[in-house]
Amino acid sequence: MLNTRCCIAGCGPAGAMLGLLLARAGIPVVVLEKHADFLRDFRGDTIHPSTLEILDDLGLANGFLRDLPHSEVARLEMRLPNGIHMQQDFRRIPSRFKFVAFVPQWDFLEFVTAEAKRYPTFTLLTEAEVTDLLTDAGRVSGVRFQTPAGVDEVHADLTIGADGRTSRVREAARLPLTETSPPMDVLWFRISRRPSDSESVELRLQPGHFFALINRHDYWQIAYVIPKGAYAQLRASGLAAFRSSLAEGAPEIADRVDEIHDWDQIKLLRVRADRLRRWYRPGLLCIGDAAHAMSPIAGVGINVAIQDAVVAANLLWEPLSRGQVELRHLARVQRRRELPVRAMQGMQSLLQENVLRPTLGSQDQVTLPPLAPLLLRLPLLRDLPARFIALGLGRPKVRTPVRAPRADQPTLAQTVTR
Ligand SMILES: Cc1cc2nc3c(=O)[nH]c(=O)nc-3n(C[C@H](O)[C@H](O)[C@H](O)COP(=O)(O)OP(=O)(O)OC[C@H]3O[C@@H](n4cnc5c(N)ncnc54)[C@H](O)[C@@H]3O)c2cc1C
Repeated sequence: MLNTRCCIAGCGPAGAMLGLLLARAGIPVVVLEKHADFLRDFRGDTIHPSTLEILDDLGLANGFLRDLPHSEVARLEMRLPNGIHMQQDFRRIPSRFKFVAFVPQWDFLEFVTAEAKRYPTFTLLTEAEVTDLLTDAGRVSGVRFQTPAGVDEVHADLTIGADGRTSRVREAARLPLTETSPPMDVLWFRISRRPSDSESVELRLQPGHFFALINRHDYWQIAYVIPKGAYAQLRASGLAAFRSSLAEGAPEIADRVDEIHDWDQIKLLRVRADRLRRWYRPGLLCIGDAAHAMSPIAGVGINVAIQDAVVAANLLWEPLSRGQVELRHLARVQRRRELPVRAMQGMQSLLQENVLRPTLGSQDQVTLPPLAPLLLRLPLLRDLPARFIALGLGRPKVRTPVRAPRADQPTLAQTVTR
C-alpha cells in the first residue's frame, strides 16, 4: 500500500503532464499506468503551439524540438476531388511556435515522464491498472489497482482520473455523462514514405470516406475515416477495392498501396466523443479524455488534455500542499476548462456536420457549403480556424512553482514495474 498526496490514474498526455507539474511543485504524486510502456501503435501525434508554449514555460521546448525526431507542419492542406484546395496556415498565428510538431506520442510521453522522474516526489507505476476507487465517509480516498503481482492500493488526498476515453475512474465515480459521439470510425495503418514526398499533412476527401496522411519521416501514418459501422462492408468489398480507393485519393502513393496486403495491417479505432456534466466529486477530479473524450477531428485532443493538466496543477498545487483540497477547488478547475472544451467540441461538431457527414454519407462528388471557400479567403476569417486549432481558448500558462530539487540525471529508479 502507498500513501501520497495525489494519485493519478493513467499516464497519457494529461496524467503525465499533471504528474510533472505537481512533482516539480514538490507535491508527492503517484501515476498509475496500466501498460508496461508507451509503445502502442495508436497514439495521436500532433503537438500544437499551445503545448509547445507550455513546454516553453517549463524550459523544455528547445530540448524537445532539438532532441525528439519530429516534423514541423506549418500548413494543413485539404484537397477535394473537384479540384478545390484549401489551406490553414499556422505561420500567421500569434505564437513563438508557428507550426504543429508531429511527434510519435510514445516519444512525447517518454520525454515528459523522463523530466518528471528528475523530481524525487514523482513516482510512476507501470503495469498498474486501476480497477476501483477507495472511499472514506463519502470521499474518494485513493484507488485499488491490479499488477502482475496482485492487487494493491494507493491512498491519496486527491485522486485524478486521467485514464482516457474508456475511463474506469469516471465509471466507478458514476459521474453524469453527455454522449456526443460522431458517426465515424478510423482505420489506422502505414505506407512507406519517400524523401521526395510532400512534407505537409494531407487531407483527402472522397465520396464515402476521407483520409489524412501524416508524415512520420520514413512512413506515412494514414488515418482513413469511414462511417460508423461500415468496416464489415469495406472488408467484404476486398483489399483490392480498398487499395484502389487509396490510390485514387492519393495518386502520389499509388505505387505503394500494395504494401497493404493483409487486413491485420489495419487497426480499427472506434471514435467516441462525450463530456462529463460534472468533472469531480469529493476527493476526485477527471481531466483530459476521461472528462471529455475528443474526436480526432483537427488533432486537438492531446493539447486540450495538456491544457486541462496545466489548469488543474495551477489551481490545485497549493491546496494539495496543505492537504486541504475542497470541492470548490475542483469545481474551479471545471469552470476554467469547460468553455474551452465545449468550444473545441463545438468546432469538431461543426466540421463533422458540414464537411465530414456529407462526405461519409455520399457516393457523389464532394462539395463544401457554397460560402466556405469564399469566407476562408477573407483575411479576418481566414486565420481563425488555424489560430483556434493551434492555441485553443484560454491559453493557460504554467503558474506552478518549482519547489522540489531536481536531480542532474534522470533516474529510472522511480519507475516501478511489478
Ligand atoms: C482515432 C483517433 C485519432 C486521434 N488523433 C489525435 C491526434 O493526432 N492529435 C491529438 O491531439 N489528438 C488525437 N486524438 C485524441 C487524443 O487521442 C486524446 O484526446 C488524448 O490522447 C487524450 O489524452 P488523455 O491523457 O486524456 O488520455 P489518453 O491519451 O487516452 O491516456 C490515458 C492513459 O491511461 C491509461 N489507462 C487507461 N485505463 C487505465 C486504468 N484503468 N488504469 C491505469 N491506466 C489506465 C492508458 O493506457 C493511457 O496511457 C485522436 C483520437 C482518436 C479516437
